[in-house]
Amino acid sequence: MDVINPATEKVVATVALASAEETDAAVERSARAFERWRAVGPGDRARLLRAFAERIDAHLEELAGLEVANAGHPIGQARWEAGNLRDVLGYYAGAPERHTGLQIPVAGGMDVTFKEPLGVVGVIVPWNFPMPIMGWGAAPALAAGNTVIVKPAEWTPLTALRVAEIALEAGLPEDVFQVLPGEGPIAGRRLVDHPSVRKIVFTGSSRVGKELMAACAPQVKRLTLELGGKSANIVFADSDLEKAAASAPYAVFENAGQDCCARSRILVQETAYERFMELLEPAVKGVIVGDPRAEATEVGPLVSAAHLDRVRAYVPDGAPIAFQGSAPEGPGYWFPPTVLAGPGHAGLPAWTEEVFGPVVTVAPFKDEADAVRIANDTAYGLSGSIWTRDLGRALRMARAVEAGNLSVNSHSSVRYWTPFGGFKESGFGRELGPDALDAFTETKNVFISTD
Ligand code: NAD
Repeated sequence: MDVINPATEKVVATVALASAEETDAAVERSARAFERWRAVGPGDRARLLRAFAERIDAHLEELAGLEVANAGHPIGQARWEAGNLRDVLGYYAGAPERHTGLQIPVAGGMDVTFKEPLGVVGVIVPWNFPMPIMGWGAAPALAAGNTVIVKPAEWTPLTALRVAEIALEAGLPEDVFQVLPGEGPIAGRRLVDHPSVRKIVFTGSSRVGKELMAACAPQVKRLTLELGGKSANIVFADSDLEKAAASAPYAVFENAGQDCCARSRILVQETAYERFMELLEPAVKGVIVGDPRAEATEVGPLVSAAHLDRVRAYVPDGAPIAFQGSAPEGPGYWFPPTVLAGPGHAGLPAWTEEVFGPVVTVAPFKDEADAVRIANDTAYGLSGSIWTRDLGRALRMARAVEAGNLSVNSHSSVRYWTPFGGFKESGFGRELGPDALDAFTETKNVFISTD
């Protein structure tokens, strides 16, 4: 398959896609490697993961450059992404020696628990953040003693392929960490159906996530789902409106809106609505959209021509465009940051569906109850932001909004040492943070009689 640079529309590489048979062969290699990897002592497993993290750091610039060419991500952001992979590996490199069970008091003997690795773990990755999302699944899985097969998205396999080479350079034993580019319905689905794959970590669309949940059922296969989002950015009149408006574009347009956490619905208290829109307009127009190789660029192109067509359809002729930012002319899959607002917004598909592009809808609300009602009026529940100077209100809102990752007076929601995941149709299971290892182990209880 030809891999296209979305900023230039030029072919950057050609990648062979794995067949179902090649996927089976990779699973069999992984299952054999598991028997060796689970026996590697915790200290040695930790050392190998630390070496992996260090090698990623040594190749950070190269990996970032590859993501610029493959996904069109701005270079500053791509460096953050490679750094996130390094940090996630580094964080879970601290886990093997600390991954302890319990000793529970019982009569007539001793009771202990073990955290047993599952076996082969399939990590199916979307195209929007190829390196971080690969790391969120792979790093804790490896630390817990599992072997991993990563299936990158069709459009963005290049960094994952390079990371697999770096893993070997770092000393990870052969087949402990494999990367298998392939089509979702072929290689991805085979990982889901193969009985030797004991767990699937899937990040992607809710449509495919639901299909895979059903496909995992016959084998009661363990599954973590990180799916879509339609998150609300809720701005109360008592907040720092300047700060809320200046940051709102970046909460939705970063990565060209191709972010599951994008705050793609801005809800503004009606008494502050007009002032907020006055402040938002220059902020949106100030977003620097352009050549992803340029250091100053904040937003690059969309990932592909097909995705551009999909995003365009959310802004049909006659859509209530309040204002738009800029986008380069010429080759590349560009779409300008776009703000939809005004009467009729609630009838727009962009108001309810995940656009996964640089399109945001703004709507007024009356009071706290109204804000909660609108924010929760979606099948999704991934993230969101709450802007207010009233601490009590901030806490009430944070408890009332049905989403897994909320931020107050900011938009930060993903830190590798805190849990990340969704409510409702945004998925289940939590990645990152101290508890992610539990998603890659079974607790085994053993009673030893002293009689
Ligand atoms: P997608 O569901 O089309 O594809 C995701 C991955 O699944 C790809 O690797 C694809 O090849 C594979 N796949 C597709 N069909 C499959 C099948 N039948 N069996 C097995 N694998 C299959 O999603 P996408 O368009 O690549 O990604 C965008 C979506 O991902 C958005 O909805 C976004 O919200 C979501 N996402 C969620 C999170 C999160 O953490 N919650 C993070 C990033 C992206």
